[in-house]
Amino acid sequence: VPESADAVLEGLDPEQREVATALHGPVCVLAGAGTGKTRAITHRIAYGVRAGILPPASVLAVTFTNRAAGEMRGRLRQLGVAGVQARTFHSAALRQLQYFWPKAVGGELPRLLERKIQLVAEAAARCRIRLDRNELRDVTGEIEWAKVTQTVPGDYPAAVAKSLRDAPRDPAEISQVYGMYEQLKRDRSVIDFEDVLLLTVGILQDRHDIAEHVRRQYQHFVVDEYQDVSPLQQRLLDLWLGDRESLCVVGDASQTIYSFTGATPDHLLNFRTRHPGATVVKLVRDYRSTPQVVHLANGLLGQARGRAAEHRLELISQRDPGPEPAYVEYADEPAEAEGTARRIRELIAAGVPAGEIAVLYRINAQSEVYEQALADAGVPYQLRGAERFFERQEVREAGIALRGAARAGGNDALLDDVEDLPAQVRAVLSTKGWTTEPPAGSGAVRDRWESLAALVRLAEDFVRARPQATLADLVAELDERAAAQHAPTVQGVTLASLHSAKGLEWDAVFLVGLTEGMMPITYAKTDEQVEEERRLLYVGVTRARLHLSLSWALSRAPGGRASRRPTRFLNGIRPGSAAAGPRAAGGGGGVEHGAGRRKRRGPVLCRVCGKTLTDAGEMKLMRCEDCPSDMDEALYERLREWRSVQAKELGQPAYC
Ligand code: ATP
Ligand code: MG
Repeated sequence: VPESADAVLEGLDPEQREVATALHGPVCVLAGAGTGKTRAITHRIAYGVRAGILPPASVLAVTFTNRAAGEMRGRLRQLGVAGVQARTFHSAALRQLQYFWPKAVGGELPRLLERKIQLVAEAAARCRIRLDRNELRDVTGEIEWAKVTQTVPGDYPAAVAKSLRDAPRDPAEISQVYGMYEQLKRDRSVIDFEDVLLLTVGILQDRHDIAEHVRRQYQHFVVDEYQDVSPLQQRLLDLWLGDRESLCVVGDASQTIYSFTGATPDHLLNFRTRHPGATVVKLVRDYRSTPQVVHLANGLLGQARGRAAEHRLELISQRDPGPEPAYVEYADEPAEAEGTARRIRELIAAGVPAGEIAVLYRINAQSEVYEQALADAGVPYQLRGAERFFERQEVREAGIALRGAARAGGNDALLDDVEDLPAQVRAVLSTKGWTTEPPAGSGAVRDRWESLAALVRLAEDFVRARPQATLADLVAELDERAAAQHAPTVQGVTLASLHSAKGLEWDAVFLVGLTEGMMPITYAKTDEQVEEERRLLYVGVTRARLHLSLSWALSRAPGGRASRRPTRFLNGIRPGSAAAGPRAAGGGGGVEHGAGRRKRRGPVLCRVCGKTLTDAGEMKLMRCEDCPSDMDEALYERLREWRSVQAKELGQPAYC
């Protein structure tokens, strides 16, 4: 614990000190990844408290996840500070709502709705709209998005059109279900998680006495990851603040990767307009990554376009030089996974702990081949924010159905006129509602479809390796793989989607599957969506402290046509590629080719649905036009996080 307030400042560079000592008036810190934003605001609170300028109970530090709030409390403790509230928006609002409800409305705060999806299902049924389990999750996600963007049911169709989101169903239907869901909640006197923010905002807006009470309690506000603030959260922050100005926000517009949940960097970028007297501090020293990693991150930002990019800052690494990033091209996906597993083993043998290594991909459906390769290589691993492939419900259900048909020994009427194995698998899966064509939209329905499509591809690969194989052989193979992948959960290599890697760091990071179609993902069509994909890659790159590998495979399966291209985001950066624009930066490292098998000509199949492709453009991408993929697992991860706040907070004493 530092001995004095001044000692708290010792671990900071001059700009970070400026942030820590600017205790009066609004402060905005705009800075890139790893520059010590979180560190600067934590030290600011500690300095203010220990210098006797900020009474601890008057400070509210707001973060976006429980993990971040817990981390901030831990860091404050280490700096000798107790009594400061570090909370998420939801947890802070819920405490206030519980405390003020009896006075503002009377009686007890309504019960928090526990099974939201069930109520949405009931609302849909009453509207005579049929939704399956996954569609229900997607529609629920849309209702949540509408609420955080303060969109009422009647305005949803117009708002969704304006937002360029892909609605998972007809927007008019969603609007109807949303309206009915709100009605049912009122009838049953329950509130949902978004209502916690909406009601707090409502009470603070209408009841000046209560707003004054809250403002007397909290006088100084600090917000981390401010680029993620939603319009509703911003409204709450404004009400907390009133006409005062003791607000310090930190953020990196280049790390905005959650726009699809309603987050927007506009508040960060407009901070100075709203607070003309604000102290604006820019941090450019990167304490996390080597100069090589930082150089690559700068190169990516140099090519970025759009509003966030106008505010980019060149990062300057403070670390000693390390290895050059490796750009690795493989012939096919299994070769990429095997090559990655081999390199991971080498790193572990060289002394890098498995827990300090991560494999990051764009969508969770990509995990299977890496789970398999790591299991084969005897490397322990864990997934972040998703279930292991063979533990996913749809994959387990499909396994049961396949086992049933194998057991029938080919006498299953269903399989009578189906000759080859992948077709048999498709036929069995069709009894589980699976279609060769992917469902429209993205989200849970799409997730489930992607998992089953991965299973069909697995069958295709299996039959390619063993042309005489039967359905029973395939079932045995699946069982074997499921068992092999069931490795004990010791501290292992992290497998995670890029979205769920945000805010974390590892010594070694493998960014895999960096092909056009996956990065940017096919359904990112507008310029804004493509830019968000580029930021996602930037977030991935900046997770690495020392070792960074970027790889892609030219075809999906061994022997397939080499028709895929590495992501456009590496043009002008990866050695040997043409520059993408005037600001393209150079990058180091030699291109290595994987040990993949010889290419062979054959029909080009869509890598998602297996359909034979004829269109030249589609063949290049190895994806048919109506096979985009999906990113909404990140949305669900956020929702899970919110729910866990809800669960945790309910048992706690009320505000004040
Ligand atoms: P992100 O954008 O990913 O959230 P950040 O800007 O919040 O990153 P921090 O997590 O605060 O960055 O800091 C990154 C790493 O650099 C941490 O390990 C932190 O302890 C270290 N660090 C930050 N500032 C300094 C400093 N002045 N001296 C030494 N280490 C520092
Ligand atoms: Mg941070």
